[in-house]
Parts: sequence; structure tokens; C-alpha cells
Amino acid sequence: MLKVADIETFYGPSQALFGVNLEVNAGEMVALMGRNGMGKTTTIRSIFGLTPPRRGAIEFDSQSLIRLPSYRIAKTGLGLVPEGRRCFPNLTVHENLMVTARAGEWTLSKVEALFPRLEERRSQMAKTLSGGEQQMLAIGRALMTNPRLLVLDEATEGLAPVIRQEIWQAIRLLKQQGQATLLVDKSLSEILPIADRCTILEKGCTVWNGKPAALDNTIRDRYLGV
Ligand code: ATP
Repeated sequence: MLKVADIETFYGPSQALFGVNLEVNAGEMVALMGRNGMGKTTTIRSIFGLTPPRRGAIEFDSQSLIRLPSYRIAKTGLGLVPEGRRCFPNLTVHENLMVTARAGEWTLSKVEALFPRLEERRSQMAKTLSGGEQQMLAIGRALMTNPRLLVLDEATEGLAPVIRQEIWQAIRLLKQQGQATLLVDKSLSEILPIADRCTILEKGCTVWNGKPAALDNTIRDRYLGV
């Protein structure tokens, strides 16, 4: 479904990615892992054309995404939950969900069933939500676009344990429903039981790709620092 091949991405003169390779197939949940600053967010920014790669290929359903503007990339069926949530602060929860809605299986009632807190706060401005509720809103908003591939960048970072659990529960439900997902997160204990495959980045390069069961202590110590 998504194929990222040998991409190299720069911020001005400074190179951040030196050869990232990554694949997500239909129905798969793939974890993109690596220590801080190794290039996970830059990989996602590259996929969505926010920081386009200078070299390499990115294909989604065999269509090249290279040089497409971000709005066209989103229309191909990619849904992004960005790091830092980025909800529209002065729109209500309901408006945030409806503003990007596209027809499909995910509807307002399905999203509100996944995150009942969003239904309770439907007419509240997004800026008045807690961090965890904003995160739920960001995920709900992405689902409302009915993405064929959902991309979550650090969806549980910095949240209270109880909220993290609610979000992981929702991610597990998405997995059960066969939602193809690319997931960036640091909590191995949550990711490893649900990921179909893991891709590890080190200094802007893909250094390991495999099933969670094959991620042994040597690889963890070497690339994930745990
Ligand atoms: P984290 O887990 O901390 O979010 P990450 O794996 O997502 O890290 P990136 O944010 O992709 O890593 O950063 C990869 C490299 O690119 C780092 O060396 C970082 O300093 C650099 N970088 C990121 N954003 C910029 C930017 N806007 N300008 C210049 N360099 C950047």
C-alpha cells in the first residue's frame, strides 16, 4: 500500500534522512521506531509532502507522491494525526470533526462511539479541551477523512496514564477492524503486542525491519536504548 524507498530529506542545507525504507501493506499496523531525533517525524513529513524528500521514491497504491502538494497527498487516502495534535482551537469539537469529513465507514457516530468524551464535549471549543481530549479529537478528525492509511505521530506522548490507556484501547480497536496504520510511539510495551512489523531508524537511516517477535534484546539495546 505505502512504499517509501531510500528517501533523503533535508532541512535547508542540513540532511536529516539518509536512506529511509518503509512499507505498510493493507490491514497492517507498522511501528516506526527509533530514539529521539533519529528521523521519525521527518519521515512522516516527507510522506505528506510537508518536507519533501530530495531523493528516493514514495508510492501509495502504486501512485507516486513525490512532488504532489500535501492536500493532494491527503486526498489519495492518507490521514495524518500530527505530533502536537494541531486541532483548530476556535472551532468546536463537532466542527473539527466535520471540517475534513469524507464519506465512508467512519461517521460522526462511529467516531463518538470510539471516543465517548468527544460526544460529551461536542459543542465545546477545541482549545478548552485537555491535552488527551485534543489528542482524541485529532485522531477522530483523521478518521473522519476515512483514510485508507492512518498515520499517528506520538499519539500518546505526554498524556496522563488513564488517557493513554483510552487511546491505546482505541488503537487496538482500529487494529481489530483492519485499519492500516503507521504508528510512531515510544511505548514498546503497548506497540509490540499489536504491531505486525517494526521499522527502526538510526541517524536518518532504516537499520532494522521485522516482526516484533524478532526484536530481541540486542536490537533493543543497540537501537532503542532500552
Ligand atoms: P523525536 O522522537 O524527538 O520526535 P524524531 O525521530 O521524530 O525525534 P526528527 O524530528 O525527524 O526525529 O528529527 C530528525 C533530525 O532532523 C534531527 O537531527 C533534528 O534535529 C532535525 N530536524 C528536525 N526538524 C528540523 C527543522 N525544522 N530544521 C532543522 N533540523 C530539523
